[in-house]
Formats: sequence, structure tokens, C-alpha cells
Amino acid sequence: MAKDKLLFTPGPLTTSRTVKEAMLHDMGSRDEEFIAMVRDIRRQLLELGGASQASGYEAVLVQGSGTFGVESVLSSAIPAKGKLLILVNGAYGERMVQMATRYGIATEVLRWSEDEMVDPASVQKALNADAAITHVVIVDCETTTGILNPTEKVGAIVQAAGRTFIVDAMSSFGAVPTDLAAGGIDYLISSANKCIEGVPGFSFVLARRSKLESCKGQARTLSLDLYEQWRGLEGNGQFRYTPPTHTLLAFAQALKELAEEGGVAGRAARYLGNHNALKAGMKELGFLPYLAPEVQSYIITAFHYPGDTNFKFEEFYRRLSQRDMVIYPGKLGHVDCFRMGNIGRLKDKDIQALLVAVEGVLKEMSVAIPVARPK
Ligand SMILES: *Cc1c(COP(=O)(O)O)cnc(C)c1O
Repeated sequence: MAKDKLLFTPGPLTTSRTVKEAMLHDMGSRDEEFIAMVRDIRRQLLELGGASQASGYEAVLVQGSGTFGVESVLSSAIPAKGKLLILVNGAYGERMVQMATRYGIATEVLRWSEDEMVDPASVQKALNADAAITHVVIVDCETTTGILNPTEKVGAIVQAAGRTFIVDAMSSFGAVPTDLAAGGIDYLISSANKCIEGVPGFSFVLARRSKLESCKGQARTLSLDLYEQWRGLEGNGQFRYTPPTHTLLAFAQALKELAEEGGVAGRAARYLGNHNALKAGMKELGFLPYLAPEVQSYIITAFHYPGDTNFKFEEFYRRLSQRDMVIYPGKLGHVDCFRMGNIGRLKDKDIQALLVAVEGVLKEMSVAIPVARPK
């Protein structure tokens, strides 16, 4: 089999051989062995969030990619008379605005530019000004740019104001320490194929049980009904509809490998090392990061296009891909940027190989090194 390309993206990510090999089995979705595995995965996910069923939290697995998990929460958690405050500083925040609009949920939206963190004081002000707001949602790491939002500070404000707090922790959970109770988090959403390094196929929601119970009969869709999904998993231990059995097998192995790496702290250390090596190497080549270092996460980094007319992103991307290095095209509103992720089963040697490839490709394209500052 040909060697896989390395994925410097926000997901799907490069996974270990052993995670991929875990999928070489067919499992019955109503079989005891499968049901036990699903229970164990749910328990371990709560543990990663510093919680347990005994402490009042539940883990619900939802088929589909991360967006399905977000949509399951937004379409189930907000009552007909509720109002959702959406904090937006990137594309994933905007996607939630689209969802809320689609469901006819009353919303208020606070927006920041893509290089600015959500400002907790503005959230406080919005909550003081509008008693109708029942729920607040934030994106923890906005993968659009890699900016890390002050989720804990916002959580404290939301909790003190007696509102429900929803966190899209898709690209941070598993690699950024999280404590659901301490963070005032009522619903946290993440997915199988990000920092836990599984393969795509399901998302998961960690929720306060009392909040989940209040979702009964509220969902605007059948298949994404978070309450019914939870009741199914708690009742007979089964998914309501066909589960991604192979993805779950891979995920169980990925959780094992996360523990072997030293849990969240071990994974955070590797990703931080990757990020620092990438930043340093790209700086040597002259690339300018989009974000200020104070707000930059160690998950994914956006770089400005060089100000050299020989630089064409599509060609840069294609030539890197030919060298088995897959980066991520930009999705920023106003500035030309590309992104490089350093999550997934990537080590320092992979980052170094990427940097060598970038230098080689720039030479092929006759882009002067160090590259010119963006225009
Ligand atoms: C990846 C991601 C999602 C979900 O995207 P999918 O393509 O549906 O998996 C949502 N929010 C954030 C912040 C993400 O990084």
C-alpha cells in the first residue's frame, strides 16, 4: 500500500496505524460486546472532562461529523421560547448562526474580527441588557484562525447570570485541559476525528444531566434529538439508528493511545512542541503568522500569503501535496492566509519534513526566501 500523505489540517487528521487497524472487524450493533464498548467510551469521555455520571454529567454520542453534534445541541437544547446568544469570531461561529436561523430560534449575535478574542465584558453587558437570553454558545478554539477564546471567563459570567452555557470544543477537547463543572459548562461538543485522533464518523456531547432532561420533547429534528439519543444509549445501550461501528472501534483504540501518551497533558505537550517548531521554522522562511501570539492556540496556525507575485497558493498547495504534505486552504474573511494544523499523529520529524518541503516548493516556484512581507 502506498504511504499516506501527512495531514496538516484541522481534520480528518493523520491517525496511527493501530487506530486504523482497530477497524478491521465487523461488529453487530446490538451485540453485547459492542454495547459494552460504547458504555466504556462514554465513561472515558466524561473522565476527560473531569466529570462522571455520579457527578451529574452524561456523554451522548451522535452519528455524523462535528457539525451534526453542534446541530443536535442547538436544535434540542433551546426551548421554543428560549433565546440564544451566539459569540462569533470565525466561520464555525457563523455556522451556528445559520443553524439557529434555520430552526427559527431567537438569537442575538455578538461579532468580533477573526483576530480578536471574544470579550467577556461584552458578554456580561449583553446578558445584563437582555433577560430573554436563556443560552450562550462559544467556540473554544476557532479553528478558522486557531484563536483560543476565553471560555472559562465567559463560562463564569454565564453561570453567575443563571443562563445555560454551550461550548463547541471541537478542535480543543482532548488536547486542552477541560473541567466541565469548573468551567460552568452545561453542554460541550467535540468529535471523534480531532484531538482524540480517531477517524471521522461521530460527534459527542458531554452534558449536565439536569439540562439534558429539560430537552425532552423539544427537539426540532428526529435523528438529531439529543434527549432521545441519550435515552437510547442509557436505556438499552444502543444507538437509535445504525452506529458507525468501525469508527467506534478506532475511537476505543485512540482513547487507549491518548492514555498511553499521558492523557490530555501528554498530548498538549506534543502539540505545543509541534506548534513551536512549525512557528519557528516558518518564521525562518519569512512567513508571518496571522494572529498575535497571546491569542494563538497550539492547534492550528494561519500564515499570511507572502507578498511575492510568484507565490500562487493553489500551486503551493499542489506542489506540497505532491510531496505528501497536505495543508489547509484559508477560510478567512478579509485576508489571504493559509493554515497549517499540527494536531493528529504528527511528531517533530513530520513538522521538520513539512518545513523542508515548504522550502523546496518555494524554490521551485522562484519565491525569494525569506519570503517578502504580505502587501
Ligand atoms: C471541525 C470543527 C467543527 C465541525 O466540523 P465538521 O466538518 O462537521 O467535523 C465545528 N467546530 C469547530 C470549531 C471545528 O474545528
